[in-house]
Order: sequence, then structure tokens, then C-alpha cells
Amino acid sequence: MRKMVLSVFGGLLMVSQLWAAVPEITVVRSKLVQGGFYVAKVPAGSEATLDGAPVWVGPKGELVLGFDRNQKPRAELKVCADSGACATKTLTIAARTFKTQNVKGIPPKTVDPSPEETKRTEEDAKATKAARAKAVEAASWRVGFMEGFKLPVEGPTSGVYGSRRTYNGQERSWHKGHDLAAKTGTPVYAPADGIVRLARDTFMSGNLIMLDHGGAVTTVYAHLDSMDVKVGDKVTAGQLIGKVGTTGRSSGPHLHWGAYWQNVAIDPILWVTQ
Ligand SMILES: [Zn+2]
Repeated sequence: MRKMVLSVFGGLLMVSQLWAAVPEITVVRSKLVQGGFYVAKVPAGSEATLDGAPVWVGPKGELVLGFDRNQKPRAELKVCADSGACATKTLTIAARTFKTQNVKGIPPKTVDPSPEETKRTEEDAKATKAARAKAVEAASWRVGFMEGFKLPVEGPTSGVYGSRRTYNGQERSWHKGHDLAAKTGTPVYAPADGIVRLARDTFMSGNLIMLDHGGAVTTVYAHLDSMDVKVGDKVTAGQLIGKVGTTGRSSGPHLHWGAYWQNVAIDPILWVTQ
């Protein structure tokens, strides 16, 4: 009798497991390093967390994670389907070595700004934060990052993500982006589909554009000579958005290209597929 009860129970368990299939996590592309990212597909309607914090899942089950420069070696991704069945995956994120880069020939006022200029910088930071918050909030407007990024400018690398920086000999925060050297006036193209969240003349970053690619992924273009888009414009991959310049805290014409997942600065060059 007892055996029969057990086998009936076992059968029920099996049936309920069939109904509540553990959601499959299919990796689309990933760079599991500090400053890297993880793009995957999960069943639509799933809910996901990273180390317990909720993360966005797109309408077609798109999932994207970004890793900070100082990301610890392990992170736990949990994906739960509608049925309540969950899959857990431990992501192992490799450490990187970051160097110090000494940048000279910076306009002195951008290294030691006056109180008035500091105030302007604070206002720029507020506007940038608000623009990014909008992108995070409206995360599912459209997903423009599944295919990876095109390079926005052809040019040699003049600064890498994560390096500690000194400006005219004074130490400042680490470099949140990738620099590509190019002549003033060189066209800058959108690396992927997006919507313009910010196009602003800032004190430190000069002419600054922010694109929202969906999924709380944004990219920024700093020190531009000119901006060819305005806030609210929808852009497609390869579309001209501005021209290279040396406005703001810059020692010569180049594009500062930054990428963010939520408010985490990640390395845009790792996203380049074409
Ligand atoms: Zn830069």
C-alpha cells in the first residue's frame, strides 16, 4: 500500500515537473570579465535576479547583465518562469589588470574648475543621471543590443576602460570608457539602434550624446565637435549622430565612448561585433 502511495506521489511529481519546466537560459553573447556583459534569452514572462536584485527581462525574453570594473569573481543569476520553476546559474567573472594612464595637455580649468564651473559640472551630472534614469525606467522600449555593436568611429585606441587616470599630473577617477583617436570632424555613427536621451554641451565631457539601446543599456559620446541629433530622436545602427572633436576635458581630438548597464559603467569595446 505504502509503495503504491509513493509511486502515485512520484508520478504526480513527474507530471508537475513537466508542467513546471525549469526555464532554459540560452546565452546569446557574453564576456565574463570585469567591465563585461552577459546577453541571454529566457522564456518570455520570466523574472530574473542577479545576486538577489531584480533585473529586466524584455518582451521576447531578452536578458542583459553588466559587470562593474570591480566586480567580484562570482555572481548568481536566477531565472523563474511563470510556473514558479526556477533555474540558477553561477557566473564566473574573470579579473582584469588595469594600468595608470597619465594624460597631459588638458585645459587647466577642467582639472581645477572654479566654483562656478564646479556648479555647472554638478548640473551636467544631474542631467546625465536623469537621462540615464529614463533609459533604465523605459528599459523595454526596444532592444537594440542583441546583435552587438558596430564601432562608432574608425581610429586607433588612445585610452582604455578601467585605467586609473592622472590629468596634468593630478590623480582623478578611473576611465569609464574607451577612447578612439580621430581628426576633428570625423563622423560618429550609432553602434546599434537606440533613442537619444541626452544631447548637451557639458563642462567636462564637452558636447555629450547619450543613446538608450533598451534593457537599461546606454552609450555615451563625449568631446564631440558637433551633435547631429536631438533628445527623443530614434536612431538606427550606422546612423550619423555627431562629429569627433576635443570639447571639454580633452587633450586632443578623439571620441570618448562609454557604455552603461543600469548605472554600472561597462566596457563598450567588448560589445563590438562588426
Ligand atoms: Zn575617455
